[in-house]
Amino acid sequence: MASRVFEAFGTVKQTSMSGNAETRKPGEKLVPPEGMTKSAYKKLLRRQRHEETKAEYREHRKQLRKDRDAERREEISKLKANGEPYEHLVKPRNKNKIVKTVQVGEDGENVIEVPPMDASKKIGVVIDCGYDDYMNEKEVVSLSSQITRAYSSNRQAVKAYYAKEVEKQKGSGADGERKEMDIAPAAKLVISGLDKRLKQRFESVLPDYQKWDPECAQFKETSLQSVLDRWNGDNSVGDQDYSNVVYLSADTEDVITELKAGEIYVVGGIVDKGRHKNLCKTTAESLGHNIRIRRLPIDEYIKLSGRKVLTTAHVVELLLKWCEYKDWKKAFEEVLPPRKMGQNEEQNEE
Ligand code: SAH
Repeated sequence: MASRVFEAFGTVKQTSMSGNAETRKPGEKLVPPEGMTKSAYKKLLRRQRHEETKAEYREHRKQLRKDRDAERREEISKLKANGEPYEHLVKPRNKNKIVKTVQVGEDGENVIEVPPMDASKKIGVVIDCGYDDYMNEKEVVSLSSQITRAYSSNRQAVKAYYAKEVEKQKGSGADGERKEMDIAPAAKLVISGLDKRLKQRFESVLPDYQKWDPECAQFKETSLQSVLDRWNGDNSVGDQDYSNVVYLSADTEDVITELKAGEIYVVGGIVDKGRHKNLCKTTAESLGHNIRIRRLPIDEYIKLSGRKVLTTAHVVELLLKWCEYKDWKKAFEEVLPPRKMGQNEEQNEE
């Protein structure tokens, strides 16, 4: 079956060789390799073709974009030279960019940089990806998308923060008053234990991850323990104290009531459709050193039936929303889609 063939992404090409796809003559029937259905074989070939042409296709799209831009620039300079309106041709600024500067002065000739977010007011969030061996290929793919989503949520929070700061600067001038915040709206997000198939997945399909903004997420290939021990850049292995660390798990009765700046919240980076109950809890217990294990206050704030296991991405988003609102109910309502509220919100839906 296809799943056997996809045991590692790298085997795709090799396996397809054992069918007759490469040697087939026009009109000849497609014969899949032994043990593989025809539809699985076709799917495999499609995927292989996609892999082979992906880079070329990307390049082609890039070139098209470049050509279009060059045409537009030429058109703009012509219109400008004739004194005709050209604004409709100017490309809108990249809306997704995080703007951290304000232009001030007569003609906006001075640029002021807004102060960075106070790191001591941030919570830490670690997605612990030490569970590669417990997932199948599809679940690894799902986890990679969830990490991307978590990054994008944190990036949105960072962006919104700076947008507000820029507005404040504009309103009050460079030395406007800054209200002290007790908790920052974005987190220091670290993805620990990026290796094996998850790493392969990022390298092959989401290579841009290496260019992700470190203010919004950082990848570490080392284990959770090593990340925690070096959280502040120092290497304090030997006398670990995890009393500022909370490992989140649905498999405990102890509830987390609030988040605190400076604390680190660990979320299991695993999609397991309920197969591995207590897995993350056991990891946390083996870390010891005063680590706390807590579940989210789901029952206390919303009605979900069945096991209350949420997805990794939803939990990260919930933590971020809590920092924004300091209100669990509001956070749950915003993060969990309405169709899931009041029904079984199990992580196997993703
Ligand atoms: N079998 C896994 C479940 C993974 S769900 C386990 O042993 O935890 C992905 C992660 O989201 C979990 O590891 C946990 O960190 C977090 N999570 C999901 N539901 C949660 C809940 N109700 N309370 C606290 N954390 C939760």
